[in-house]
Amino acid sequence: QAGEIALEVKGLKKSYGFKPTLRAVNLTAYRGERLALLGANGAGKTTLLRLLAGLMRPGKGTIRIEGLEMERDAQRIRQLIGFVAHQPYLYEELTANENLLFFGQMYGVAQLRERAQALLERVGLTKRIHERVSTLSRGQLQRLAWARALLHEPRLLLLDEPDTGLDQEGHALVEALLNEHRQGGGTTLFTSHQLEYVLRFSDNVALLSGGRIVTQMPTATLTLEKLQQIYQEKVR
Ligand code: ATP
Repeated sequence: QAGEIALEVKGLKKSYGFKPTLRAVNLTAYRGERLALLGANGAGKTTLLRLLAGLMRPGKGTIRIEGLEMERDAQRIRQLIGFVAHQPYLYEELTANENLLFFGQMYGVAQLRERAQALLERVGLTKRIHERVSTLSRGQLQRLAWARALLHEPRLLLLDEPDTGLDQEGHALVEALLNEHRQGGGTTLFTSHQLEYVLRFSDNVALLSGGRIVTQMPTATLTLEKLQQIYQEKVR
């Protein structure tokens, strides 16, 4: 595969206590790629995303993002990453707008007020702009989490099950945001349990099992039946 490497993970290991979750993860994603990360419940997908986002440190191994090494450049790498987790991780007592201003300041976003307003509009939250986060619905929280993740124009989007908990309109929005990100040359790594979604939205599929990536292959070579078969064989 040609192109520049956006993400390179080598020999990544992470244990909680004595229990190894990731044993030796090797994974590569090229710039502009949409890489789906599959694995059973508890395989360690969220753990891997959190390591890549710099929210935890691995026991062993290296993470390189856009040529920077996590160990040396965690601060600069954080600027390159947008993370949409299961939980939105927002400040409940602040308004939607205040949350974006807070995170935007942290990232040193230029023309922050305008950017925050434009993003809130983009995700359909213009009417909620001055409402406290604690009053927002789950769907609205998810939209705000997306706005927060995109605020600093990240090069690598990390998405933990972007296909769950959304209504139809939310799905369409996420799809549009992902397309915009890709058209701008951005890379996406997302987890999912829905194989149809994976086939539709990924360029490559990686399977995490037993603490390792056991298969990585181009989505174009797969059918739903084949992916189901591989999933059943390899996932444990
Ligand atoms: P799911 O598909 O259910 O979201 P996952 O593949 O994302 O699962 P992780 O959430 O990364 O899996 O969890 C991997 C394993 O590590 C699980 O066995 C989980 O119980 C364990 N684990 C995760 N976080 C912690 C923690 N903070 N402390 C202890 N164990 C943890």
